[in-house]
Amino acid sequence: MNATQEQLNRLLSGATPSASELASLLKAQGKARDLIYTAADDLRRKTMGDAVYLRGIIEFSNVCKNNCWYCGIRCDNDNVARYRMATGEIVETAKNAKLWGCGTVVLQSGEDTYFTADILCGLLRRIKDETGLAVTLSVGVRTRGELAQMKAAGCDRYLLRFETTSNALFSAIHPDESFEHRVQCLTDLRDLGYQVGSGFMIGLPGSTLEMIAHDILFATRLKLDMIGCGPFLSHPDTPLAEKPLIEDRSVYYKTIALLRLLNPTAHIPATTAFDALEPDGRNLVLTRGANVFMPNVTPGKYRRLYQLYPNKPCVDEDGAACALCVRGRLASLGREIGAGPGHSVREP
Ligand code: SF4
Repeated sequence: MNATQEQLNRLLSGATPSASELASLLKAQGKARDLIYTAADDLRRKTMGDAVYLRGIIEFSNVCKNNCWYCGIRCDNDNVARYRMATGEIVETAKNAKLWGCGTVVLQSGEDTYFTADILCGLLRRIKDETGLAVTLSVGVRTRGELAQMKAAGCDRYLLRFETTSNALFSAIHPDESFEHRVQCLTDLRDLGYQVGSGFMIGLPGSTLEMIAHDILFATRLKLDMIGCGPFLSHPDTPLAEKPLIEDRSVYYKTIALLRLLNPTAHIPATTAFDALEPDGRNLVLTRGANVFMPNVTPGKYRRLYQLYPNKPCVDEDGAACALCVRGRLASLGREIGAGPGHSVREP
């Protein structure tokens, strides 16, 4: 048995690898790399089945008070026309998402202080009453009191990425936020009974394979219900403009595969940024450990205004086109759309 297979067998038996072991797997090439992909795909089939759950993303506001260095809608970027969708429009979009086969809507925005907990609670109640869909909020760091209020209003899940476990790197690229505060928010979410999603950006400038390995291990220790990761893609209107991709593109995919191997029953989405990396990026991720797809259901007129990174796919489509596209993708992979909300299947 070769060394990679032995390492994979150890992961599959539940052993916790060291960061250096994971970093060596992230370096794998050729047959060794393919073994990692196959092991992740086999495990995904065994633990999560062939169903792919659709979570429709509604990007309801691109207003943000923060200035994260990698983000195209950071508040200092004057090249973006700002918008907020009205409550009724968001609810109508959620209804469309349901028609298009989504069991969940993900309400995503910048850190927009206009959307107070009270306003978000009203929105949550309407969506739950009028669609019955599962709802994920992705609206940034909030106080424990606000999170409790939104849970009581029916919110099922919350998505908040930690982005990197390197404190120095985190502080450098997040002038408005601390790593500890973000992790505290994740702890609060868990205590309050949310299904918790988090993850990180793969290949931030200054990161190494060892740092990515630490990010994988941290995400695993958090026992997340959902792990969402995507490649760092430099946006021209940010301080990180023109920072390169990782030269070995397979590192992005191996990261997802290793996350699956360490988190057999977590929901892992094929995040949209993979399609910006290469045209069939999301399809590839679905064959390397992922079991969730997040079609963009935001009305077409707003899509160009919500570009966290450049070359974002589907900005000229509408929700119906995205819903049709995902069906074609899944059919070509021999996968089916998951029925229902696709709640967490992790052991409590
Ligand atoms: S990453 Fe989120 S919090 Fe940071 S600037 Fe972008 S929208 Fe705002």
